[in-house]
Amino acid sequence: MPNVKIEHLDKIYDGGVQAVYDFNLDIEDGEFIVLVGPSGCGKSTTLRMVAGLEDISAGKLTIDGKDCTRLPPKDRDISMVFQNYALYGHMTIYENMAFSLTLRKEDKQVIHRKVMAAAEILDLKSQLNKKPKQLSGGQRQRVAMGRAIVRNPKVFLFDEPLSNLDAKLRGSMRREIMLLHKKLNATMMYVTHDQTEALTLADRIVCMSMGRVQQIGKPIDLYEKPANTFVATFIGLPPMNMFEGKIEKGNFVSDLFSYPLNDAQKDALKDYEGQPVIMGCRPENITRDGKVKLTVTNNENLGMNTLVHGKIGDKKLVVAKFAEWCNYKEDDVIEIGFDPVMTHFFELPKMTVNEKGEEVVAEYGKAIR
Ligand code: ADP
Repeated sequence: MPNVKIEHLDKIYDGGVQAVYDFNLDIEDGEFIVLVGPSGCGKSTTLRMVAGLEDISAGKLTIDGKDCTRLPPKDRDISMVFQNYALYGHMTIYENMAFSLTLRKEDKQVIHRKVMAAAEILDLKSQLNKKPKQLSGGQRQRVAMGRAIVRNPKVFLFDEPLSNLDAKLRGSMRREIMLLHKKLNATMMYVTHDQTEALTLADRIVCMSMGRVQQIGKPIDLYEKPANTFVATFIGLPPMNMFEGKIEKGNFVSDLFSYPLNDAQKDALKDYEGQPVIMGCRPENITRDGKVKLTVTNNENLGMNTLVHGKIGDKKLVVAKFAEWCNYKEDDVIEIGFDPVMTHFFELPKMTVNEKGEEVVAEYGKAIR
């Protein structure tokens, strides 16, 4: 039985803004789910509906077999860890971690055992008598997690827990959260706008845009088989290069270059003869054995690889990532190709005009396979 079952969830805020459309997900016991997408895509709203901090406008939420759609947060058996820690400044770390259990009037000895166990897991035992302001940002975030752990919830919910930390600390906290998940073997739902966090932490990623789920899958599925143009460019860094063109007699033809399709690609694209399509290739799948001329604009050495930024023609910007130290200079011309196994094709997005009269995407371009 899935631990959390989310069926057809909608959120319409007062005033009529629809933030989430028809969200569906079954979360298995012990699974680590990451909701990822740009700011405003509806991921926090979804998490807050699961937490009970926002009313569910339509749909159903079941946790461990119990219908929680209309239950108050305290009856849902969940714990939420927030971005801003929300610790009580006047209490010690011990008191902060014990707080929810004290409120529930649990036995003092039981509380002590639970707080000490959480402190052990989070390496906070030597900090228990301090006040939050004496701790670093990373330690405070661990206390916030400790507060969640002592309650032994069915589901942990994390709302951008690392976004207040600096880049280095984010990296180490990410590894701590991975370890924590392993140790507790708990079901976790985690919201972030950072695709690296999603790829590194998730058993499965839910990628959202414009209030809708765009794809659900293992990190490698979203990376290797993005369902549409949004997922293709959101997951992976630097983003996938995208080229508009059309299919003509076994070739992808754009204003910039012509690319011969291999047999598998011809087969996938057989219904698209004469049609406009988008070809996508990740920077790391650009090769140096092709015939497309790239004029280098910038050579960025990252140590074990080099990002080469350049232009095809006079304006199409392209980024290539080569797995070695390169020393290209501005205006060098190199000949690039596209690894056929890792080249993607998409339909064109469907466009619409918004209330401000701007042309915007109504539906992203679907992957063609
Ligand atoms: P994310 O977490 O992906 O950044 P949110 O779930 O916070 O996105 O917001 C989704 C959309 O809902 C946004 O357009 C946001 O402006 C809107 N929204 C969020 N909270 C409210 C609210 N309390 N009232 C009205 N609109 C809201």
